[in-house]
Amino acid sequence: MSHVQPVRVGPIEIRTICEGWAALALADESPGQTVDWDGERERRPWAFFGSDRWRWHVHAFVVRLPSGMIVVVDTGVGDFPPYAPWEESVEDPWADVEAAEVRHVLVTHLHADHAGGTVIGGAPAFPNAMVHVHEADWSAFAGSTDADDYVARHAMSSLLELGMISITDTDREVVPGVQLRHTPGHTPGHRSVILSHGNDVILLTGDLLHLPTQAAHPGWWSSHDEDPQLGAASRRLLLWRAAHDGWRVAVPHFARPFGSVGSKGWLE
Ligand SMILES: [Zn+2]
Ligand SMILES: [Zn+2]
Repeated sequence: MSHVQPVRVGPIEIRTICEGWAALALADESPGQTVDWDGERERRPWAFFGSDRWRWHVHAFVVRLPSGMIVVVDTGVGDFPPYAPWEESVEDPWADVEAAEVRHVLVTHLHADHAGGTVIGGAPAFPNAMVHVHEADWSAFAGSTDADDYVARHAMSSLLELGMISITDTDREVVPGVQLRHTPGHTPGHRSVILSHGNDVILLTGDLLHLPTQAAHPGWWSSHDEDPQLGAASRRLLLWRAAHDGWRVAVPHFARPFGSVGSKGWLE
């Protein structure tokens, strides 16, 4: 049972899988900025841990369409071997997900906490699904020297051999109501996902943001972005669009992932 309640976009249901959380240092966030962390902590205590850390949750989203088709957006760490960051982890968080019913897996990018769960025990975690990856990430991560990144990409080569990976560089609708949007910066091929039913829209950001503070200051650079200038540009553009058009927003690493963006920042 996830600590996050399901939400809906029209008839589309979005469940949140929580694998756990780790406490990360605030000192590593928003380089070059003086942030009033005490004030931030008072406004949103759920996002923080102790006096100098924040709660980095690892969430994935399971989207059930009116047709009954299931689309998974990010896959968490899974049993990815070198990666055990947890302060607290959840026992078997994917237990209630009908893996065989999943037809599409949208991986926002190839970091281990998003792509690690595509392969479990050397086999496809979602045996009947096509896994969608942006071409720029597939190329970039092939040459990565970072062990975590290299292994995630390497594990996924078995999916490529099985014909289960779709590598493209275009923004498109995977199935009606589910769109891929290239939002580079965090990684070269980073994607966000837009779920819509008429005017009811929810933006699954991927790693466009890590802390709610960034919603008020989308132009601040992030130490998590490979290209901070491009990351800030993607964040500004998508959050402007979300605020302007009244989209809801879901951020996988927020302890409380669902909210929206107003002129003063993150709204719950
Ligand atoms: Zn969580
Ligand atoms: Zn991440």
